[in-house]
Amino acid sequence: MFRFNYHTHTYRCKHASGTDEEYVLAAIEAGYSILGFSDHAPYRDFPSDRSHMDIEQLDEYIASIDALKEKYKDQIEIHVGLETEYFPWNHEERVEIGKKVEYLLLGQHYSDPVGNEVNYFKINTDEEMLQYGKSVCEALDTGMFRYLCHPDVVMNRQEAFTPACGEVAHMIAKKASELDIPVEVNVRGVAKGRKPFGEKEYYFYPHRPFWEIMAQYPLRCIVGIDAHRPEDLLETELVDEALNELSGLDLKFIDEPIM
Ligand SMILES: [Zn+2]
Ligand SMILES: [Zn+2]
Repeated sequence: MFRFNYHTHTYRCKHASGTDEEYVLAAIEAGYSILGFSDHAPYRDFPSDRSHMDIEQLDEYIASIDALKEKYKDQIEIHVGLETEYFPWNHEERVEIGKKVEYLLLGQHYSDPVGNEVNYFKINTDEEMLQYGKSVCEALDTGMFRYLCHPDVVMNRQEAFTPACGEVAHMIAKKASELDIPVEVNVRGVAKGRKPFGEKEYYFYPHRPFWEIMAQYPLRCIVGIDAHRPEDLLETELVDEALNELSGLDLKFIDEPIM
């Protein structure tokens, strides 16, 4: 059982539920000793009705988590961070927002802040796949990110593991291992169930063929719950299943807190 989870959302992103305190109570009940909040970061010029908090909510979010940090300090260690995409054109804004919190996680869900251009939760073309890999590598090069969330999120909704998918797995694993930035085994994909890929069935993520390539590099791995409901923190069987899916691969999991 992993005693820490740094990937937790709040209702502010508009597709998660529960109060901040309910996440803390669930984490305590599940036996976590560290809970990191990493809600979807806002973009100053791009409000959203479904994918991230609004810029006006950022200070209140931090204050709310800070208050819980103090209230529950004898029971659990709490950190406040943000999960965000990265785009070179708004580097300054990410730096500015990053200074307000304890950590940033990279979660490259879209090719633009609201997914108008490419939302990777679909069947991606090879070109889009490679664009994703390139963006992730550029983002990791900035050194801003504590770890990379769901490197295989781009497999979500795919129906085949194309050579481009393999190339992206190589690109990301090479970059993350060179920079020694941990990569996340995200358990949320297990909750979606297995999907057919050719003759076989795999989770979208953790996607075993993707991780078979990633495991060829000296990576540090971390499990992320990606909780969008307080009760997600209690579903420890999903963690077991995600790890079971990757069994036999040479993956080194971080066994100490990352901050
Ligand atoms: Zn989310
Ligand atoms: Zn997330």
